Amino acid sequence: MTAQYEVRGNVAVITLDNPPVNGLGLSTRLGITRGMAKALEDPGVTAIVLTGAGRAFSGGADIKEFGSPKALQEPNLLDVIAVVEQSTKPVIAAIHSVAMGGGLELALGCHYRVTAPGAQIALPEVKLGLIPGAGGTQRLPRALGVEMALNMMVKGDPVKSEVLAQVPGQKLFDKVTTSADTLMDEAMALAAAVTDTRPLPKVRDLPCAHPMGDGYFQFARNTVKALAKNMPAPLKCVDAVELATKVAFDKGLVLERETFVNLMATPESRAMRHMFMASRATNKIADVPSDTPVREIKAVAVVGAGTMGGGISMNFLNAGMPVTILETSQEGLDRGLATIKRNYEAQVKKGKLSEEKLAQRMALLTPTLAYADIAQADLVIEAVYEELAVKETVFKTLDSTMKAGAILASNTSTLDLNAIAAFTKRPGDVIGMHFFSPANVMQLLEVVRGAATHKDVLATVMALAKKIKKTAVVSGVCDGFIGNRMIEQYIRQAGFLLDEGCTPAQVDKAIESFGFAMGPFRMSDLAGNDIGWAIRKRRAVEYPDLRYSKIADLLCEQGRYGQKTGAGWYDYQAGARKAIPSPAVDAMIVSYRADNKLATRRVSNDEIVQRLVFSMVNEAAHILEEGIASKAGDIDMVYLTGYGFPMFRGGPMRYADEFGLFKVVQQMQRFAKNPLDDQAFWTPAPLLQRLVDEGKTFTG
Ligand code: NAD
Repeated sequence: MTAQYEVRGNVAVITLDNPPVNGLGLSTRLGITRGMAKALEDPGVTAIVLTGAGRAFSGGADIKEFGSPKALQEPNLLDVIAVVEQSTKPVIAAIHSVAMGGGLELALGCHYRVTAPGAQIALPEVKLGLIPGAGGTQRLPRALGVEMALNMMVKGDPVKSEVLAQVPGQKLFDKVTTSADTLMDEAMALAAAVTDTRPLPKVRDLPCAHPMGDGYFQFARNTVKALAKNMPAPLKCVDAVELATKVAFDKGLVLERETFVNLMATPESRAMRHMFMASRATNKIADVPSDTPVREIKAVAVVGAGTMGGGISMNFLNAGMPVTILETSQEGLDRGLATIKRNYEAQVKKGKLSEEKLAQRMALLTPTLAYADIAQADLVIEAVYEELAVKETVFKTLDSTMKAGAILASNTSTLDLNAIAAFTKRPGDVIGMHFFSPANVMQLLEVVRGAATHKDVLATVMALAKKIKKTAVVSGVCDGFIGNRMIEQYIRQAGFLLDEGCTPAQVDKAIESFGFAMGPFRMSDLAGNDIGWAIRKRRAVEYPDLRYSKIADLLCEQGRYGQKTGAGWYDYQAGARKAIPSPAVDAMIVSYRADNKLATRRVSNDEIVQRLVFSMVNEAAHILEEGIASKAGDIDMVYLTGYGFPMFRGGPMRYADEFGLFKVVQQMQRFAKNPLDDQAFWTPAPLLQRLVDEGKTFTG
């Protein structure tokens, strides 16, 4: 049983005890109801205190039960809350550390609530594409006021208990204790004081209204609609809270439950729940046990103070870690430091950082031109030019200067990490840390595991990633690693679509309507079309049979590199970022097709989206089969955190599962008949075909 029962004097204490955060799994739910029954039967007990052991009052649903039959087994949380609320003896919730989701809903069913300061209070269900389903939408507005409660539900973020206790007229907390240490004593004192109070106060009996009435809900709906993008849950929160103001409590509870159950079955919620689980699983590596000892990383060095070196350094400075940054020239160093400072100053201007913090962070940064100054660093990250010869010099020097046990990381995007490791006599200490630009902003970090990388090096870097608040995903060594290897196919398809009759704007619009923040052509204009040009030139040597549309090369030959040259796939007005469809580019595409006698046709928006997304999915299936990625969820996390794949679709693999893998393969077979496409590419990857044959999915 994961709830303890004891009697202290006249008070029964039920303590949720289901580490790490007292999730309300079946065994805990049973523990509470059995504890309640004992307390009600015991004539010596006059009041009941409900609290949590360890790190939380309760974090809500038990994620170990997600999707399992146990989650639905009775007593469900509504049953438990009803038992608590209907108790004839007063029930006092003693809250510390965390009361979230079902945990907060349970507390709201108690007659009184005492909280320690600093407790994190939230209804985060919206982050799983849901609304609270155990009375939260009906009770919190009664306890806290409509507006504050709705804000909390729509955002899903935690608010500190002492902040909520300041809300005028709130009935959420009866008492905020002076510290967590006195919580139980004060809860016991309250239990003694209310022993004879009848009737017992119930949140459900409180009035619920907004002074502006319907006008407020109209306003809330407009605001939430703009923020919710494609997610249905936030608007459903508004509906549910409005109901709380309009219908009897019990009816509101039934309608809330109905909405909750309906949302559970939406693809959006499935996507969000998948993402939640996938994000927790990225650091689970099959052959690297979670108790693998990690190396201590106190001091970091970065080689190269360019675009990436500067951004990478900022991550560690932000986490309070000292960084020494090394360059080849004083000018390079000065430029790099000035950029870092400018970035911090921009944050100060926006009110996101204090002057004091800026000074603290800059003080942690030491510039140098001498390898001797970085020799004692525990981790060094190389971010110099993307040329193997330059990396060779740097890694040979690092090998001869860095202390034993230091981790040597490379930020290379395209070079062979095993070749880089082989420049040293300690390839086991070499690893890839592939940050994305801007490195201080982007959440994704691909951690590239070389053939020789030691397990403790991998475990150390994964743990460190958490410290600098990155989503780290392990990738094996291959051209482009997980993310860029897949995007290569997406970009190739975008090119073929132009050959076949699309305009850049049509392709961008189609995929943007699917939910991408930016289509491939707007993205390329932003990044610089010359970058892709250079990659294609290199790949033409390495993979002479690989076919691309020629249109992108023609564009670059005209100097249309994108925003930086004021013209790319689109036209740009001086200094502006707005992409304006370019008649000149459209004309160039038309004449290219005519010159090459390409048979054009009208391509539907559905086909555009499917070709762009399924090309990534097919490549990803190869990536999985080759063991470059170890699970489909990792690939989704790469795309959700590094490439702007729409959250509500849960990533490319999840989306393919939702679409149906059988149908995905059918479409691929159609695309394979298209003479202007790369027909061989569309042969379904063996893993994909196997999953279809066995009726399985990527993400389970
Ligand atoms: P950059 O040209 O902006 O910066 C490279 C810096 O390295 C320059 O400041 C240069 O002076 C310095 N440098 C060159 N040789 C050096 C040496 N021997 N010792 C010390 N410093 C030296 O390049 P960048 O965009 O920051 O890219 C750096 C690395 O990051 C490359 O491997 C690149 O592939 C990778 N990367 C870049 C991006 C991106 O979007 N720019 C994204 C991910 C990874």
